[in-house]
Amino acid sequence: EDSPTDSHPISIWNYQDSTPADTDAINFTTGFPDFSPPKHVSSAFKSLVNNENNNSLIHQYTKQTGHPRLANIVAKLYGTELKRDLNPERNVLVTAGAVHGLFCCIFSLVRPGDEVIIFQPAFKGFSYIVNSCGGVPVYVKLNIVEDDKCKNDTPVTTSDANQKLNDRDLHTTRFEFDEEELKSKFSAKTKLIIVNTPHNPLAKVFTTDELSKISQLCTKHDVLCISDEVYERMVQEPLKHVSIASLPGMWERTLKICSAGKLLSVTGWKLGWCIGPDDLIRKAVTMHIASVHRIATPLQEAVAIALEGEYTGREDPNSYFNSLPREISTKVDQVCEIFLKLGLKPLKPEGSYYVVVNVSNFDFPVKDSSQTKDFQFANWLLNEMKIAVLPVTMFYDIEDRNEINESLVRICCFKRYETIDRARRIIEDWS
Ligand code: PMP
Repeated sequence: EDSPTDSHPISIWNYQDSTPADTDAINFTTGFPDFSPPKHVSSAFKSLVNNENNNSLIHQYTKQTGHPRLANIVAKLYGTELKRDLNPERNVLVTAGAVHGLFCCIFSLVRPGDEVIIFQPAFKGFSYIVNSCGGVPVYVKLNIVEDDKCKNDTPVTTSDANQKLNDRDLHTTRFEFDEEELKSKFSAKTKLIIVNTPHNPLAKVFTTDELSKISQLCTKHDVLCISDEVYERMVQEPLKHVSIASLPGMWERTLKICSAGKLLSVTGWKLGWCIGPDDLIRKAVTMHIASVHRIATPLQEAVAIALEGEYTGREDPNSYFNSLPREISTKVDQVCEIFLKLGLKPLKPEGSYYVVVNVSNFDFPVKDSSQTKDFQFANWLLNEMKIAVLPVTMFYDIEDRNEINESLVRICCFKRYETIDRARRIIEDWS
C-alpha cells in the first residue's frame, strides 16, 4: 500500500520548503509571518530565558495534559467564547501544534475502515492522518459559486481609489458545498467529519447556516466532528467566526483544534490545544501519551503569559487579538492590489491570511503543458518574477477536474509590508 507520502510525490511541504530557500524568491507560499513575533509574546519568552520569575522548574517536565498555567488560561478564554464552564484538566489537551492535536484526536477515534468526511480542497494534514490510521477519506466538494457580476467578468479597473477595494474589484464569489452531496456522503461507516473554518486554502469562513446543516447531519447520524479553527482570530469584517461546538447538540461530539503558532504568530513554536468534552479528550490523551507524552514547558509558560495578557485586554481594541484582523485586512488588500495590477482578479477573501486568485483567463507562456494551469502559473511567476505562490490543486487528494479548480493559486499575505512592497515593485516594473 502507498504511504501518504508515496502517493503524493510533489508534496506541499517539499515545495514550500525548497522553493523559497533555493531561490531569492518572495515567499507568498507558506502560512507564516516573515517578521518577529508580537512584543508581548517575545518578552514573555525572554522573561523565562532570563529566569525573571525565579522559577527554574519551568524548564522541567510538566503535566501530561498540559502545563497548568496554560490549561487554566485556555479554559478561561475559550469558556468565555463557548459560554461554557471548561475544566482545564478535563476539557483541554495541550499538543505539539494543531497537527499533533489532529493526530491525537483522529488516531484515538478512527479505526480501519471508518469513513471520515473531508471538504476538498483541504489542508493536507487531514488526509495524511486519516490514511495513516486506516480510515477512509470521503470527499465533499467546495464549489465556487459565482454571482451575476462575476459571470460577466467585467474588466479589472483600479481607477476609483475611494471605494473599498473588496467591493470594487474582487470576485464576489463564495466557495460552497452542495447540501445534497454532503447528505449523500453520510453512511453507517461515517465516524467523523472534519470542518476547517476559516478555511485553508480557500479563505472561506463557514456561516452559521452552513455549520447548522453540518451539525444536523452529525446529530442525525451520530457522527463526531473535528473542527480545525487555527485561523479563528483572522476573519474579515463584518463576518464572524462561529465554532461549530457552540451549536445545539455539537459540544458533546466536537473536538476543536487550535494553534498557538497561528494565534500568536509564532508558528515555529509548534504549540496548540484541543478543546472538547471529557470523554473525547480522554481518548485523545491516550494518543498524546503514545506520541509525545508531554509538551515543552517553557513554551507553554510563555504562551500562557501572552494569553493572560489577551484575556485581560479582551475589550481593548488595540490588543493583539483585536488588532490582528485589521492588520491582516490591510495586507490582504495590498496583496490584492498587486495581483490586480498584473491583470488578475482575486476572489474575495473571508478569513485566514490567504487570498485565492483565479488565473484561468490569464495569458502567459506555458513551459509544460502537462501541468495544470495553477502549476504552470506558479512556475511562470516564480521564474519570471521570483514570486512564489501555491497551486491550489496541491490541496486536492482526488482529482476534481474543471477549469476553475485547476486554475487557482493561494497567496499568503501575512508578510512584512516591505515584502509586499517588493512584490508590488517587481510587478509594476514587469507590467
Ligand atoms: N490546520 C490548518 C488548517 C493549517 O492550515 C495549519 C498550518 N498551515 C495547521 C493546522 C498546522 O498548525 P500547527 O503549526 O499549529 O501544527
